Amino acid sequence: MTRTTPPRPADIAAAFPELIPLARTATRLHPRPGSPSPRDSSVGGPLLWPAHEPWPHCDGPHWASDLLPARSPADVRQLRRLEEAARAGLPHTLQEQAEMARIKAGHPTPTGPIAMLALAQLYVHDVPVLRRPGEADLLQVLWCPFDHGEQNMPRTELLWRSSTEVTDVLTPTPEPDAVQYGDYLPEPCPVDSEQIVEYPAAAELDEELRRRVAEWSTRQTAGAGPGGLYDGAQELFYDHELSLAPGWKAGGWAPWSVTDPHPRYCTVCRSRMEPMLTVASYEWQPDGPSWVPYEDRAAAASPTVYPTLANPTRINLAGGYNQQIYSCPASPEHPHATLLQ
Ligand SMILES: [Zn+2]
Ligand SMILES: [Zn+2]
Repeated sequence: MTRTTPPRPADIAAAFPELIPLARTATRLHPRPGSPSPRDSSVGGPLLWPAHEPWPHCDGPHWASDLLPARSPADVRQLRRLEEAARAGLPHTLQEQAEMARIKAGHPTPTGPIAMLALAQLYVHDVPVLRRPGEADLLQVLWCPFDHGEQNMPRTELLWRSSTEVTDVLTPTPEPDAVQYGDYLPEPCPVDSEQIVEYPAAAELDEELRRRVAEWSTRQTAGAGPGGLYDGAQELFYDHELSLAPGWKAGGWAPWSVTDPHPRYCTVCRSRMEPMLTVASYEWQPDGPSWVPYEDRAAAASPTVYPTLANPTRINLAGGYNQQIYSCPASPEHPHATLLQ
């Protein structure tokens, strides 16, 4: 199914022509649960992986906590089924209650190497904004589904390949014996890519322009009533609805929330890195409703569906943040960088 982002509620480029040179194309990926094949672009789907090629593992070190126990992927999926049933009004049997208690208790984080988890794969024909090395046409993204170091997020690996060179596909796609808690295990979702235009977050604009954009935003939302979306936060209109799309996307501008903007530099050539891929917890937030695609509007308005519809991949980073992946503009083969935002 096609997903279409509605036009922005105001024409920011007409109001501020100085933003026009800063416009960037981003590709919203619109992942939605389904049954992708290795020949499809997907989040959490099977990878087009050569049968003879060893599957990567992570040696850690892995953060371990009793609060976020390890669970098997099968247990995480079973827990999601049981929770969906409860949401649909089906009471759990005593046996199901016991099973949920067992799954929630989990087990300790494994101590040995952990098989990487297929997070996403994107074909360049679906996501032309990706800058690829040579003839490669497929970006594969894997992560180790445990928190690593001080970043409190999974460790991510990127791999480019030429899909025509893969004739014998490894099936099924391997997965680890355990994942942390369950928030890092994606549901299989085909993607439906859409090109949009983005502008930098207000925090990335120079101070004078940022001030004028904030004043303009306040005027635009002057009629915001008490308790309304922009009541007490009128200057956020630009950030929430006109600049950056929420959700999974390639290219565009980076979201900033945990830290102030600070540039990332390539460890090989010192080039300033650019946003490549946003791994998102949510496809939209209540404070930016204009980003909900037309095709999801009716369902998104239903209180019984929320929050599942806005969180189709079931990934949840630190309670709702994004993993921002940066690449080097000089060479897609230089190492990428990640940041929790
Ligand atoms: Zn790891
Ligand atoms: Zn570089």
